[in-house]
Amino acid sequence: MIRDEASFGAFLDAVRKFVRDKAIPREAEVEQTGEIPDDLVQTLRQGGFFGWSIPEAYGGAGLTTEELVLAAFELSQGAVAFRARVGTNTGIGSEGLVVDGTEEQKKRYLPRLASGEWTSCLAITEPEAGSEASNVRTMARRDGDSFILDGEKRYITNAPIADVFTITARTEPGTKGAKGVSAFIVERGTPGLVSGKPYRKMGQAGSPVGSVFLDSCRIPASSIIGGVEGAGFATVMKALNKQRIHLAALSTGPAMRMLELAVDHARTRVQFGQPVAQHQLVQALIADCQTEIFAARSMILETARKRDRGEDVVLEASMCKYFATEMCGRVADRCVQIFGGAGYVADYAPIERWFRDVRLFRLYEGTSQIHQLNIARLTLNRTPSP
Ligand SMILES: Cc1cc2nc3c(=O)[nH]c(=O)nc-3n(C[C@H](O)[C@H](O)[C@H](O)COP(=O)(O)OP(=O)(O)OC[C@H]3O[C@@H](n4cnc5c(N)ncnc54)[C@H](O)[C@@H]3O)c2cc1C
Repeated sequence: MIRDEASFGAFLDAVRKFVRDKAIPREAEVEQTGEIPDDLVQTLRQGGFFGWSIPEAYGGAGLTTEELVLAAFELSQGAVAFRARVGTNTGIGSEGLVVDGTEEQKKRYLPRLASGEWTSCLAITEPEAGSEASNVRTMARRDGDSFILDGEKRYITNAPIADVFTITARTEPGTKGAKGVSAFIVERGTPGLVSGKPYRKMGQAGSPVGSVFLDSCRIPASSIIGGVEGAGFATVMKALNKQRIHLAALSTGPAMRMLELAVDHARTRVQFGQPVAQHQLVQALIADCQTEIFAARSMILETARKRDRGEDVVLEASMCKYFATEMCGRVADRCVQIFGGAGYVADYAPIERWFRDVRLFRLYEGTSQIHQLNIARLTLNRTPSP
């Protein structure tokens, strides 16, 4: 649903302008320094990018799902690190509070996240809880009006720079799986919470990812999101369900940009007396990219509209995440092929960086295999036996 076509059109133009005029010219600098320059973070704050999905009542833009994915198609055409900088606040780091937070929690955190004053992260993954995300070992022991957290979270986007952490922990000892897991909101500076150094990784330079260590970390009992013990896994799943559609869109923008780069190259690179774009086998690569991008965009938009109508999109969200991220990987590979040797050499073309940056999409927020299982399970459940 688009609430007001004219004002939303102007908003999208502003996002496009930011990407073309401010972000893309600084991509090489971000790759080299491993950081988003402060002045650009400030521009993102001033432009309201941190609060896209946060309700207007708490200082955000309150974008509908359709508006959010259309904006994500645009923003993600700049290097992944730019959208990852705002992406936890306008996504997994705030969504738990939006869907299940108490009024007091929403008032304390959401305005600060919407303005970008604070950065958030969502810490689910642990050494023993990856694809099996409910295998939570982090413990939250009740002590009067407090909980004491002990455990380790791993691979957490923006943890090294986060001011607030949404953390899943087991509040009911002896339980297994999703049962007995609560979600807490914990502020940096709480004694016993330490974030590790950013990891060295394959791609996405400028997007810091690290571990979170909890050692006798005492927090008030009021830090449980929604104030309900044992409901944390459901909260996180609600947040992730929306996030899958969002991430699918954030995987489609990069595919659009990579194809644009590849088409530019193919038009100017001459071999056998003509631009390589005139060779029909190169045209086949272009056609396959364009067709798959169109397919992803179509399914994401249809799913977003369905969600905005209040319909159940659990199956569709999983299919969008699975298809769009795999599609992006195939587009990256074809575009490197279109660039030829220049596609492999970072000094010649940015496509080498894109190829590495997008590899992550198929791994996080549910690997492709986990989504295949999910899609098949839901399909089998919904298909009546003869
Ligand atoms: C850079 C980065 C950023 C991340 N950001 C965050 C974040 O912000 N917050 C957060 O909580 N987590 C985050 N993650 C964690 C991410 O979600 C997990 O890495 C992911 O869910 C996979 O878990 P795993 O790495 O333990 O792999 P594993 O679960 O060990 O999987 C290994 C392989 O086995 C396959 N596999 C596992 N189980 C099955 C099965 N039942 N059937 C078939 N195949 C299976 C997987 O598909 C995969 O191919 C991030 C990870 C990375 C690398």
